[in-house]
Amino acid sequence: MTQTFLPFSRPTIDEATIAAVGDVLRSGWITSGPKVQAFEKALSDYFGGRPVRTFNSGTCTMEIGLRVAGIGAGDEVITTPISWVATANVILETGATPVFADIDPVTRNIDLDKLEAAITPRTRAIIPVYLAGLPVDMDRLYDIARRHGLRVIEDAAQALGSSWHGKRIGAFGDLVSFSFQANKNITSSEGGCMVFNNEEEARLAEKYRLQGVTRSGFDGLDVDVLGGKFNMTDVAAAIGLGQFAHIEAVTEKRRMLAKHYFVSLGKTFEAQYGAQLPVADFENSNWHMFQLVLPDRITRASFMEQMKALQIGIGYHYPAIHLLSLYRERGFTEGMFPIAEQVGRQIVSLPMFNAMNKDDVERAVSAVKSVLQ
Ligand SMILES: *Cc1c(COP(=O)(O)O)cnc(C)c1O
Repeated sequence: MTQTFLPFSRPTIDEATIAAVGDVLRSGWITSGPKVQAFEKALSDYFGGRPVRTFNSGTCTMEIGLRVAGIGAGDEVITTPISWVATANVILETGATPVFADIDPVTRNIDLDKLEAAITPRTRAIIPVYLAGLPVDMDRLYDIARRHGLRVIEDAAQALGSSWHGKRIGAFGDLVSFSFQANKNITSSEGGCMVFNNEEEARLAEKYRLQGVTRSGFDGLDVDVLGGKFNMTDVAAAIGLGQFAHIEAVTEKRRMLAKHYFVSLGKTFEAQYGAQLPVADFENSNWHMFQLVLPDRITRASFMEQMKALQIGIGYHYPAIHLLSLYRERGFTEGMFPIAEQVGRQIVSLPMFNAMNKDDVERAVSAVKSVLQ
């Protein structure tokens, strides 16, 4: 029997969304327009009325967030070594210095004790990351930020639909950044959005988004800050709107799939196979990913290769950022963040996407068990 390949992630775009994209393409206005405005309004409503602006990637959203917070040369920004490299690259882009703090081995998110210990007189901001959609202790995070007078630019790229004890991620906090890249729970093909504290910040972000331009009257145009070209198109916004309509169902579905992973892997999985499960959080996490940390007796490459032979796609999110060449050149080396290094070597993402079903979970689990045996 030949089975079809089960990828680790795959977007599902419904027919209404495909039709809406067609309407945009026929409308004569395909760049930023009414669909972008409608998407920003829908997002703002979801985040309790806080101002929201969209951008053409999660990466530029974060960079603009740092600029809005006034971060630049001479400033230190603390973040986690276990994230997509974008999280640290945007700090370098602004001319600021990235500072890493090791992760908590259980949550795989930044360890808030180590974060606090890394604060210096030059620290201006923190970028926490909610890996796989699991938030950090948000009360503790904002307590640290308040006590040290730091801005928080939340890299909530993976956390749309996540919450903190009943409050949506994005509905509270400082600057909160999301991504709509194709593998995220909700996609616009590429894109991102930021939730701001007030309209003044949102207007400044609009300038950074489009060449620093302010328009007035029929032909008034001025530029007073250096902006770039980071606007979302109406084509992307139409996809985002069509996807966002399903946010509650998507989060529910992923929680169900994650629960089924735990049931299928079984209570003795960790003891029997030596792999580490994620935190079984069904209140706060949106289950963007379901990740295992493999035992040292198998390399990740070998695991991935054997899983592929069994028709199961495996992702790895992420190798430790500080060990990438660009960061080694800046003085980071092995041994600085041992937990992140271990997790960065052995972490794998099992298949998890909106259109999966329980049978897919069981197929992935039986393959994991046969490879780890
Ligand atoms: C996806 C992602 C980003 C970058 O988002 P893009 O839209 O791909 O630019 C940044 N940080 C994290 C944690 C992500 O998962």
